Amino acid sequence: MSPAGTPPDAGATSADTAEHSSPSVDSVVVDAVVVGAGPAGTAAAYALACAGRSVVVVERGPFPGSKNLYGGVVYGRILERIEPRWWEQVPVQRWVVRRSTMVMTPTQAVTVDVRSQAWGSVPYNGFTVYRSDFDSWLASKAVAAGARLVCSTVATGLLRDGRGRVCGVTTDRPGGDVKAKVVVAADGVNSFLAKSAGLHSHDDPSHYTLGAKEVLALDPELIEQRFGVGPREGMDIEAVGATGGVPGGGFLYTNHDSLAVGVVVSLDGLARSKRRPEELIESFKAHPAISPYLRDTSIREYGAHLIPEGGFDTMPELVSDGLLVAGDAAGMTLAAGIWLEGVNYAIGAGLAAGEAAASALRQGDVSASGLAGYRRALEAGFVLSDHSRLRRAPGLVLSERVQGSYTNLVCDVAEGLFTVDNTAPKPGLRRLFAGARRRNRVAFRDLVKDGFDAVRTFR
Ligand SMILES: Cc1cc2nc3c(=O)[nH]c(=O)nc-3n(C[C@H](O)[C@H](O)[C@H](O)COP(=O)(O)OP(=O)(O)OC[C@H]3O[C@@H](n4cnc5c(N)ncnc54)[C@H](O)[C@@H]3O)c2cc1C
Repeated sequence: MSPAGTPPDAGATSADTAEHSSPSVDSVVVDAVVVGAGPAGTAAAYALACAGRSVVVVERGPFPGSKNLYGGVVYGRILERIEPRWWEQVPVQRWVVRRSTMVMTPTQAVTVDVRSQAWGSVPYNGFTVYRSDFDSWLASKAVAAGARLVCSTVATGLLRDGRGRVCGVTTDRPGGDVKAKVVVAADGVNSFLAKSAGLHSHDDPSHYTLGAKEVLALDPELIEQRFGVGPREGMDIEAVGATGGVPGGGFLYTNHDSLAVGVVVSLDGLARSKRRPEELIESFKAHPAISPYLRDTSIREYGAHLIPEGGFDTMPELVSDGLLVAGDAAGMTLAAGIWLEGVNYAIGAGLAAGEAAASALRQGDVSASGLAGYRRALEAGFVLSDHSRLRRAPGLVLSERVQGSYTNLVCDVAEGLFTVDNTAPKPGLRRLFAGARRRNRVAFRDLVKDGFDAVRTFR
């Protein structure tokens, strides 16, 4: 078996159909097999390879990043653990120096606009990047450390030994079983492997959102003028109240010569609304606060993908005998209203999974208890600490009141505050607020309760 999967000419976030070599798998026996060459799987493979373990990564796409869709911003600090001067190597589109959070109604918008030049220099904060570029770059680090990458190969099931412990995977290649002492399931949001191991005990559609996005071509200079940023600098806009009554949010990110625009909406809400995600993107694009950014763009591509947004309380068991689950396969995207971060959490979890697997292999105990160090490491670091602290955020942010009456309330109060009507003295904030609360049917009791919940969630 030989490494496979060089990216074709990048510039797209969804699958490129370029064919790559198809190495044979032929019943390999290794220390570890990782399923999925997304950020979680690649990070796990990197950690295992660095610990001197033989590790194979099986990826169904023709190259890493070919099957992966996301919004577009990666927070890079975690990469220091893989490449200390990562910013010199990652194929960045733009460094995000401007971050806007918008609260919208169909005709209004209130924006908190944060700009920091510190985000545009070492050690940087967020950057936009195409997944075909980023995942391939990350995978090259795992391969350089000694991992073997096998693309265009689907893991079709778990192998078990006589005592029922996981001991490898079957693949869609003839004779393509990969026997391994430990398996890392990093196969993304639908994790067939975690489900077939029985680890997702409370899987439910309400724990998922659907993200849909378009990539729109636009001249780099126009991007810089419209978004008020310099060359190589970019902007990230997140919006609540922008999804036509379906719980969720909208986003707009700048790449070098394109924009990523899309929506993330609750699956249940979308089904109830009987609307299509493309319609919701169109109405977000037509919003008066968004449409000026998008003038004269042309569509380059469209894609949609599920996001595990349920958070901490909906995560599966993270290990069983011979198996660890990492990244979206374990529901680790942090989608807490003002944050939508999955790649950094996937890398953090992947590194912890790889290190815990390497340590269990060293001790000669890959049972669930031998792998328990994985959860402990996640709890000690940012992955489970953040998820645990923000466990109430997904419910709060997707609630009807936050999505509906509260966004109307905020926009009405702000509009009232800046509307000058010299037929009467200026109304005080208290009167504006009381009027907006009445018009939007916001009960004082709910406001106090939700305010208390928000403080408890985000403090
Ligand atoms: C619309 C949208 C917007 C988002 N925006 C952002 C954002 O701006 N920033 C951010 O940080 N996160 C964002 N996310 C979340 C982010 O994309 C995920 O959290 C991240 O990709 C998770 O990484 P992963 O490695 O766990 O899974 P994935 O990236 O999904 O990787 C899983 C890999 O496994 C492979 N695979 C699956 N099944 C098999 C199989 N049976 N055999 C072999 N290979 C298999 C897949 O091809 C894939 O390469 C967004 C997600 C969506 C959908």
